[in-house]
Amino acid sequence: MQFRAPINDILFTLKATFDELPGLDFETAEAIVRHFSIFAEEILAPLDQVGDLEGSHLEDSRVRVPSGFVDAYRAYIGQGWPGMAIPETYGGQGLPEPVVSALSEIMSGANHAFQMMVGVAPAAARAIIIHGTQAQKQLFLPRLVSGAWLATMCLTEPDAGSDLAAIRTRGRLVGGNWRIHGEKVFISGGDQDMSEGIVHLVLARTGEDDYGVRGLSLFVCPARREGNTPNGVRVTRLEHKLGLSGSPTCALSFDDAEAELVGAEGDGLSCMFNVMNPMRIDVALQGIAHAAAAAAYSRTYAEERTQGVRPGTGKRAAIATHGDVQRMLATQDALALGGRAMAYHAIAQLERSTLLTDFLVPICKVFCSDAGWEAADLAVQVFGGYGYLREYPPERILRNVRITRIYEGTNGIHAMTLVRRMLRLNERAALKEFEGAIVQEIDNSALVNDWRHATQAVFAIDDPGIVATPYMKLSGLVTFAAAWQRLEARIDLAPEPDRIRRLAHFVRRTMLPASAMWAAMCLDPPVAE
Ligand SMILES: Cc1cc2nc3c(=O)[nH]c(=O)nc-3n(C[C@H](O)[C@H](O)[C@H](O)COP(=O)(O)OP(=O)(O)OC[C@H]3O[C@@H](n4cnc5c(N)ncnc54)[C@H](O)[C@@H]3O)c2cc1C
Repeated sequence: MQFRAPINDILFTLKATFDELPGLDFETAEAIVRHFSIFAEEILAPLDQVGDLEGSHLEDSRVRVPSGFVDAYRAYIGQGWPGMAIPETYGGQGLPEPVVSALSEIMSGANHAFQMMVGVAPAAARAIIIHGTQAQKQLFLPRLVSGAWLATMCLTEPDAGSDLAAIRTRGRLVGGNWRIHGEKVFISGGDQDMSEGIVHLVLARTGEDDYGVRGLSLFVCPARREGNTPNGVRVTRLEHKLGLSGSPTCALSFDDAEAELVGAEGDGLSCMFNVMNPMRIDVALQGIAHAAAAAAYSRTYAEERTQGVRPGTGKRAAIATHGDVQRMLATQDALALGGRAMAYHAIAQLERSTLLTDFLVPICKVFCSDAGWEAADLAVQVFGGYGYLREYPPERILRNVRITRIYEGTNGIHAMTLVRRMLRLNERAALKEFEGAIVQEIDNSALVNDWRHATQAVFAIDDPGIVATPYMKLSGLVTFAAAWQRLEARIDLAPEPDRIRRLAHFVRRTMLPASAMWAAMCLDPPVAE
């Protein structure tokens, strides 16, 4: 079973969401998407299972990536992909965000582990472009554009996961130069042997120990100094994980490593916020990449696998003809298409409205990562016992997609932020924008009423933590409904209009009624222990 990039669905959703792409016509965008798909299908996808079975490993304290990954990275550089998201002023191609996101989704679908290693570099470049000095831009951007260097984001510590206020890694000035000291864990691509160099973006404490997140500053810290001498950054452990074994997840020790401050001292977290929304959309699209792959494999399998007989014919039936299997296939397809449309809509808001973006992005991150998990679970089910075997893709997809609900802020933390902060932010201004842009557009009074009643109920609860996830699920469903409505409105652009019409009907009849259940949980919450 071979990975095929969902090019037609991606192009349809791009056109249905954006009237135009900044600085690029749709024909060129389509050519780029098709060109990248060939690379993803022919070079990256065949290495997905290799990476899973072989994994990265440590050799003399250096990480070695699985067989074939180094050559694949050379091809990635050779075709000029590292610079796709970086503006032309800095030597990149400066592709518009929606196209970059489309390519990122295709890469995640083909080989999520590879995407994890190369996917941080554009975010690091963005942080340096926005907050870095001229000298930092001159030093790091050309290396990131050429692919000579890759990047990491070093936030998590053993005692500081969701709670970044607990970060203990310190940045201190020694003789006028910054030095980083401390331990970071779970760092994706913390070391690898694909790129010549690595730059770590490190969140470290420069203020008092009890200063919370305001005492944090952002640093750039190359793994090695100029002249290729060690810079006091060491891999102390390589994690063994449920999935994504090809992607090295490292514990890193920073032993007075030389670093430079990015942005103002104490502004570390706000500097990070500028890159977090695109990174969260990227994770949402990882979820969608898995949902789309799960849907495609399931359809192929269900059309070939025969069990039972076709009523009235006595002939063996493909399982795709059975109603319950059709329900599973339609659910996967609807989640992938609608989730992607949600993510693209959030991208469209990135430059337009900060308030709406801040409201929509966590909803997308949670909905799309949950969607990826649900679609993968359904794929295992469609494949029956074969779905449980290593030989078939659903088992791997299920393991790989699981992390998307945990990193870039756990889905639980995003739900808490939604009910505790976003609902109340700027005297409900963000909520009002969400109502105006999403809720009022929805042509489904039961769904809208469920959401409005739940919102009022959540406001009235002193500690809404216990209803955070049901409220997040409900808000996700509302955003999903709006996304499907937008797709349906542009059915004229769809390559398979009947499929879109059928799925839109399925969404309305079988998926949106779940709003009553989520609303009921918000209206009558159990008492927290
Ligand atoms: C494969 C992988 C790759 C990763 N890559 C990176 C990386 O490149 N860089 C990096 O910095 N980190 C990375 N991480 C770390 C990841 O971001 C963290 O695991 C995540 O932020 C959660 O932190 P934690 O694991 O400490 O869980 P915890 O924060 O301990 O959370 C455990 C559970 O408690 C809940 N919880 C915690 N606090 C609260 C609260 N206040 N209210 C309600 N519920 C709460 C959470 O929702 C979660 O369900 C990676 C992790 C993995 C597994």
